[in-house]
Amino acid sequence: MRLRLSFATLVASIAPLAGHAQQRASTVPLIPEPTVAALAGELSGASAKRNLEFITRQHRMRASKGFRAAADFVAAQAKLYGLQEVTVHEIPADGHSMYGTQKARLAWDPEFAELWEMRVDGGHVTPVARMASFEDAPVILAEDSDSADVTTELVDVGAGTSEKDYAGKNVRGKIVLTSVAPGDVVPLAIDKFGAKGVVSAAQNQPTAWSREDVNAIRWGHLDSFEARHTFAFMVSLKQYRALQERLATGEHITLHAIVRASRHPATYNPVTALIPGADRRGEEIVLSCHLDHQRPGANDNASGCATILEVARTLSALIADGKIARPSRSIRFVWPCEVECTLALFHAQPEMRARFKAVIHMDMVGGGPVTKAIFHVTRGPASLPSFVYDVGQRFGTFVNSESELYAEGTGGRYPFVSGEGGKEALLGDLAEFTMGSDHELYEEASWKIPGIYLNDWPDRYIHTNFDVPGNIDPTKLQRAAFIGAASALFLANLKASDVAALWASMEPSTLRRAATMLDRRATLSPADGAALTRSFLSQQRDAFESIATFAPIPDSVRREATAFFQRLETITGAPEASPPVTGEGAVVFTRNAAVEGPMVVFGYDYLADHTKGRAAPRLLDYQGLRGNGDEYAYEVLNFVDGKRTTREIRDAVSAEYGPVDVSLVADYLRALESARVVRAAK
Ligand SMILES: [Zn+2]
Repeated sequence: MRLRLSFATLVASIAPLAGHAQQRASTVPLIPEPTVAALAGELSGASAKRNLEFITRQHRMRASKGFRAAADFVAAQAKLYGLQEVTVHEIPADGHSMYGTQKARLAWDPEFAELWEMRVDGGHVTPVARMASFEDAPVILAEDSDSADVTTELVDVGAGTSEKDYAGKNVRGKIVLTSVAPGDVVPLAIDKFGAKGVVSAAQNQPTAWSREDVNAIRWGHLDSFEARHTFAFMVSLKQYRALQERLATGEHITLHAIVRASRHPATYNPVTALIPGADRRGEEIVLSCHLDHQRPGANDNASGCATILEVARTLSALIADGKIARPSRSIRFVWPCEVECTLALFHAQPEMRARFKAVIHMDMVGGGPVTKAIFHVTRGPASLPSFVYDVGQRFGTFVNSESELYAEGTGGRYPFVSGEGGKEALLGDLAEFTMGSDHELYEEASWKIPGIYLNDWPDRYIHTNFDVPGNIDPTKLQRAAFIGAASALFLANLKASDVAALWASMEPSTLRRAATMLDRRATLSPADGAALTRSFLSQQRDAFESIATFAPIPDSVRREATAFFQRLETITGAPEASPPVTGEGAVVFTRNAAVEGPMVVFGYDYLADHTKGRAAPRLLDYQGLRGNGDEYAYEVLNFVDGKRTTREIRDAVSAEYGPVDVSLVADYLRALESARVVRAAK
């Protein structure tokens, strides 16, 4: 009986396998199925999460001891995994060196901070309760706070950004309570009215869930470059409201603030490591993330850094075991501090940077359901048309479809599910370009390195004490790792014989973009519609041509593409020539190659610093259909190529983000000219 039962059980368990051919599965794109199977057998979201847990225990401020501890850990793991050229770089963070458009900030090393409520009884001051402890949650101390030991009263100044907030209040020598970011209240509260410090409950990075978690404490910042010494504590909404209520009744609240922290020269410590290519070692595919941010900073961005480390482990192991061939091009891994370390690395290692062909950048890739995160596989900017974005989105589509079949119980051979993670479908969004992380440096016109950007948004706990490892789904890390690894392998091996399959996958995605373009065109004026069509068609052709930067395009594929673009124009209509322009619209600008990087980096605004006394360009305050002023500005500069007229730049950026008046674009270009970032061609 036992035997028969076991036999029956065995048959039952085999049945799904026997029916395997009936199970639905999607076709493996671009790379051989044995490679996908090898990746599926080795990639581990749980392994990535173990590394994430170490990283989240460090308070990873720029150039600090905490960042160094995380960097040393990543370097040690990379060595353990068999990577080569593992290096913890040391690049001056001295407060004045320029790395392109980034002025190096000083290191900021916080060691201790506590905020106590005190009782004042006659001449005696005694502690009542500890309100905030750096040891408990380092996010309570705003970045760039300096040492202090102050016992004084707390004064509510509301926002504290307007003189009337201080009417009838004496804040001299006191601590101000504010609802806004500490850096915004300093000019009046500290500089003008003589307060000693700040307690803030600023609610930055708003999402639909903002203000719901009243115990969340948000990361706050003071100005990195100001010589003045002050400090700011960040408190939860619950603490803030309680303090406000008590002060409103006329109660006196005395606080004791103790801070030991300093800004001082040190070094940025980005980590790099290499899987050497078999024969095209002079060309590198980069996997990037950013290793910094406040503790725990699990999704932002221990998740991206642990995930590229898992890609490193997996590829290294599979190559060593002979399960996949060593890729033709090298694969470089970079763990920097966000934006500023990437720019510092570009300038400290120009030969390395010159080998970069494409980047896969991960910033927040593990948010579980509690974070409300939507995962995105994001394209590069319109100023940099490239086939690379289609590669990332093709693998994103594959994981979407396989994980959905798996979750619904109808199939899916490669759902990439971690044993300790979720089983739900990925449903990643195939997104158009968004800014907000290091990919905007790679893709900037100074370097033109196309990137696949994997990112969660929103995350209700970003930049708070609640961005914890418990929110991270190992399955999601494993899926991001697969998209990263598969894209890296395809790009590292891409050769002429792969181009036909690549183009076959680009045709349908080009048609999907055409559909989006037609939707948008229907809402535009005829002139803007014509400009949109022109930009769209030329960018799709440029994306096809970009393949040639990786591999020669076979004549047969070129013929197919030519026929495809002709058919496409029967749908979109042929592009009309640009109308003639005069005046400011006709001016052509060229980029000053000596100024490398975007205008706004971390803690430093190159344009503002180089145009002091000039009114801020109006474009920066513009809100278009799909972009804000910073996005328009980033792309206007990227479109400057010594050939496009101001009017053509206006048309291109209008196609990307929605129509904008040419005068705003011209005004911005003139501001760039006065900062010697561009000059008008004669
Ligand atoms: Zn981030």
